[in-house]
Amino acid sequence: MELFPPMVEESFVARLRADVAAVVAPIAAKTDRDDVYPLEAVRALAARGYNAVHVPAENGGGGKSFSHCVAVFEEVAYASAATATSLITIFQSAEILKLYGSPALKKRFLPGIARGLCCSYAMTEAAHGSDVKHLDTKAVRDGDGWRIDGEKSFVTSASAAELFVILAETPAGVSAFAVPRDTPGAQTITAPGSATFGLRNGPHVNFRLNGARVPLENLIGEEGHGVRLAVTTLDHSRVLAGAIGVGIARAAFDGAMAFARERSAFGQHVLEFQGIQWYFADMLTDIDAARNLVYDAARHLDEGKQIERYSSEAKLFASRISVAAAEKAIQICGARGCIEDAPFSRYLRDAKTYEIAGGSSEILRNTIGKFLLKAEIPPEPKTAGA
Ligand SMILES: Cc1cc2nc3c(=O)[nH]c(=O)nc-3n(C[C@H](O)[C@H](O)[C@H](O)COP(=O)(O)OP(=O)(O)OC[C@H]3O[C@@H](n4cnc5c(N)ncnc54)[C@H](O)[C@@H]3O)c2cc1C
Repeated sequence: MELFPPMVEESFVARLRADVAAVVAPIAAKTDRDDVYPLEAVRALAARGYNAVHVPAENGGGGKSFSHCVAVFEEVAYASAATATSLITIFQSAEILKLYGSPALKKRFLPGIARGLCCSYAMTEAAHGSDVKHLDTKAVRDGDGWRIDGEKSFVTSASAAELFVILAETPAGVSAFAVPRDTPGAQTITAPGSATFGLRNGPHVNFRLNGARVPLENLIGEEGHGVRLAVTTLDHSRVLAGAIGVGIARAAFDGAMAFARERSAFGQHVLEFQGIQWYFADMLTDIDAARNLVYDAARHLDEGKQIERYSSEAKLFASRISVAAAEKAIQICGARGCIEDAPFSRYLRDAKTYEIAGGSSEILRNTIGKFLLKAEIPPEPKTAGA
């Protein structure tokens, strides 16, 4: 009996699970231990068509639904959340280009992303984390291009990224830009104190721009609209962050189940204790609920309906239950859950980190709150002459 049956076509998920087992699972522990970017796995996933599942076929992608994207992130995270995190920064960069990039930008970057181009999505700065409405990174028009100065920090995947999507403030407001790594005046800097205990896919590197020049066409969407573009893109990627939470929770569940089935105490299998069954019952209920929420959010994304609500709910809930699942799995496995070589501490560290990265749980609650205000309090009627 399959506890977590495919939520999209069985053939797609069967192939995906086999590919993940072959190229991601073997490097999962080492990627986490050494905190290195899983370049080979990311390239191998691209070669199998997983890095641009959602990108239209005319731009070299798979042209599939968000539910397929969710399946990819769920299954990759089941083996390695750090590898799924490497894919999410690629997704974010592809998504903002897909939604708002000029035809020239799409043509320049999307086919490369489908072939395995590594990308980072850099909004955060040392002084601006959750609040990116004002930034210290500035971009000004300079002849036939943009001149950019500033430093983005805490950039996931930046040790390997070949393309950075960044936010910078222009005279018209915050704007989004595509900045290739090899842009003159751009450099990556390993900032001390930015290694994290979870989602370890290489050091979080700063991206310093010192008079970096990019062509005018590297502006993504309209000047001054960067926050809206970036936040909408984050709304999309939050569904996938939710899928990562589900993948981690499933891995914790399966790991604990494998132990509880085999281990005996007081003359019976650990799984036969009712107290232990209750842990599994709670985990299964949480995972089922989160899985349904995440795939439902993906369907809303495909239909363009109430996206900020469902994506925030998906990430908020899935990240919370993945922390709870990892914790219960450790409890069930007793000392075996605590040993360094077991994967459970990785699950717990990855799950906890995702309650902050990609939009903290507080910011997600704010987003849901704002959605409710809009939905429940109708705008004041306009008075004549106003
Ligand atoms: C593993 C990891 C990877 C990351 N990768 C990237 C990346 O690739 N690109 C990138 O741009 N950034 C990245 N970040 C940065 C991340 O987006 C920020 O850490 C996050 O936005 C929170 O910002 P902060 O840490 O500066 O916290 P702050 O904004 O300083 O907030 C501190 C606390 O206050 C809460 N808070 C802030 N504002 C509000 C509010 N309005 N209402 C209620 N509570 C509030 C926060 O939720 C948090 O609990 C990453 C972070 C981590 C941990």
